[in-house]
Parts: sequence; C-alpha cells; structure tokens
Amino acid sequence: MANPIFAKLPTTIFEEVSGLARAAGAVNLGQGFPDDPGPEAVRAKAAEAVLSGYNQYPPMAGLPDLRQAVAEHYGRTQGLDLDWETEVTVTSGATEGLAASFLGLIEPGDEVIVFQPFYDAYPPLIRRAGGVPRLVSLPPPHWRFTREILAAAFTPRTRMVVLNNPINPAGVVLPDEDLALLAEFCVAHDVVAVCDEVWEQVVFSGARHRPLIAYPGMRDRTVKIGSAGKMFGLTGWKVGYLCAAPALTHALARTHQFLTFTTPPNLQTAVAWGLRNPGDWFEAMPRGLEASRDFLAERLRREGFSVLASQATYFLTIDLPASGVAEPDRAFCLRAVKEAGVAAIPVSAFYEAEPVTSLLRLCFSKSDAVLKEGVARLARARDRSIEREAAIPGAPA
Ligand code: PMP
Ligand code: GLN
Repeated sequence: MANPIFAKLPTTIFEEVSGLARAAGAVNLGQGFPDDPGPEAVRAKAAEAVLSGYNQYPPMAGLPDLRQAVAEHYGRTQGLDLDWETEVTVTSGATEGLAASFLGLIEPGDEVIVFQPFYDAYPPLIRRAGGVPRLVSLPPPHWRFTREILAAAFTPRTRMVVLNNPINPAGVVLPDEDLALLAEFCVAHDVVAVCDEVWEQVVFSGARHRPLIAYPGMRDRTVKIGSAGKMFGLTGWKVGYLCAAPALTHALARTHQFLTFTTPPNLQTAVAWGLRNPGDWFEAMPRGLEASRDFLAERLRREGFSVLASQATYFLTIDLPASGVAEPDRAFCLRAVKEAGVAAIPVSAFYEAEPVTSLLRLCFSKSDAVLKEGVARLARARDRSIEREAAIPGAPA
C-alpha cells in the first residue's frame, strides 16, 4: 500500500494548473518558468559537454570544478568563505537538496518550523523524515516575522527551521532585522536552519539578499540551498547545491548518496562555466525580469487589479477582493483557466492551515505579448466573476 503521507496528497498545484493550461490552450502565468530558452552560451557549454565531455558517473559530491565555482561565486557575491571540498555538495535540484537535508538531519519526533506560505515540497518531505512540521504564518502584505511570532513557534522540541528567502510566492526579500532575529532564536534554541535560497540571484533594485548562514552563530548550523535552475533561468536542469559546515555536509552526503547519488555531469560542467563567466545572466537577466514585473504590474493596475509589491522571484501577487473578485483564490483560478484561458496559482496552495485565500500568484518571466494577453484574459475572468456574484440572489449588488 502507498505511504499515507504521500497517498493522501493531491497532485502539486504547479502540475495541476499547468495540465489544465495545456488542455485549455491557456496563457500560463502559473508555474514559474521563463518562456525564453535560457542563456545560449550556458546551453552551448552543456551541449559541448554532452558531445565531447565525460558522460559517466561524476563524483558523488559533484564535479570538483562546479563545487569550486559555487564556493567562489558565494565568496564573490555574498562574502561567504566556503571550503569547496568539505562544505559544498551538488544535488539534483534544490528539491533533492531539501530531501537530503530533511532525511539527514531530522530525527523522529523533532519539530520543524515551517513558515506559511511554504514551498509545497516541505511538509510531506519533513513528515516522511519523521519530523513534525510546526506551521507558522507570516502575515500579508509584508510577510515579516516578529519576536512574538518566533517566541510562540520555538519549543524545546524544535530541531530545525526551514526558511525560504527570497520568498516564493510572496516575492519578498527578508530584511536584515528579521534575519538577525531568526538567527538569535536558532542560536538560543540550538536549532539547525535549512535555508532555501534558490531565488537569491533573482532580486530587483532596492532589495538585497542576505544569507542566514552569515549571521552570528549560524555558520555551523545552517544548510544553504541554491539552484542553477533559477540562477540561469533553466528551471528544467535540476542542478542544485548544498553549502554547510563539514559536520552537516557529512550527514547530507550520507542521504544524498542514496537519493540520486549524482547529477548529470554535462549540466554540472555548464553550470560551473556559467558561474565562472558571469556573462549577462546575473546582471541583465534580473533587470529584464524587473522590467517584466513592472510591465505586468502596470497593465494589471490599468485593468483595476490591486497588485502587491514584488522584490524578487518570477512572481507577483494580486489581491482578489481588492480587485473586485469575491470568490476564493482556488475557485477563481480554476474558472479563469477553464473559462478565460489564463492560468495562475492560488496562494492558498502554499498553506496547510488557515490559508490566505485572497491572493493569486502570477508569473512574469514571460514576453510582454504573453503578459498583455494574460492580463486581458484575467480581466475577463474577473468581470465574469463579478457578473456571477451579481446573479446570485441575495448577494450584495
Ligand atoms: N524551492 C523554492 C522556493 C522554489 O521556488 C523551487 C522551484 N521553483 C524549488 C525549491 C525547487 O528548485 P529545483 O527546481 O532546483 O529543485
Ligand atoms: N517552483 C516553481 C513555482 O513555484 C514550480 C516548481 C514545480 O513545478 N514543482 O512555480
């Protein structure tokens, strides 16, 4: 029989909505992926490595070339001093890195603090590792934590905290004060932090990403997770990295060796090259995405939608009630894809308890033409929603 932790789960919201979008021929502003093919120079390196490079099992911890490039990259961009040999492991995407962290570092019964909205893979993987997720909601629209929120979350059984920063779906980059506060609690409670920082390179002007591992007392108790998929806008590549002090890295390697063992060497070669040769991907790509964010936000506002701020990621959210939609996010989302041909992600999918049902996440890593058409269709979906409400007897006019 199937394991009940997974058997009871629905298909992930990203697969569900992309499936509906394909079936309806919809404009897909749901699942987060760019609609361009990604940097050609990096793809050319991968192609070259497939044809002329080494295509057998690479070392379990990853190609030395990539591990060195990762350590150098974080030294250059975030001031970190990582030893590539004992502190960097290559995984098959951030997702495998998360699974290796949970399986390797949680003991049965340990409490694991997870902030809502969360990336959907966290709770099931934590439970399968024997952990007990302790769900803590960050309040919109700023998604900040406070001393009171953290004081209520940490208990003597807390073993781990999972932090996603920059936050998907909120598009928020947590400020220094919040990170310092979280670090203070982790140290005081002797807790390990698993930091999902896959969006660290997709940050817009005015915001700065700071890694939790750099805060006082965190160097030896933090697993920092990155993803080439997001750094290079090549989401299907599934090349990730785990950075952690040697003792943690040793534990992670023990689980990684039985999850995927290795990651395609040709892709590793190309990622190493991309990290060492910052063409325009770490400069021009975020600026291009920022322009797309502004284009989408401006079009949405012109159509009467209420748009929340986005400082990072491929996403912005809109406030449905403030945009005239009375339906909850998931109901609106399913109708929008089927009836108006536009796909988005309901923010309630990032919750297990007391979901926020008033926000819709839209992906802007698309061409202006796609975004323009998406907004027009979203406006049609909103207008139909208003008409339907008006047609319900007794509903407010
Ligand atoms: N964490 C977060 C917050 C994400 O948004 C994503 C993918 N969008 C992942 C993890 C998964 O990354 P990967 O594709 O490298 O497994
Ligand atoms: N992380 C991507 C998003 O938030 C989707 C990843 C997935 O499809 N599992 O849209």
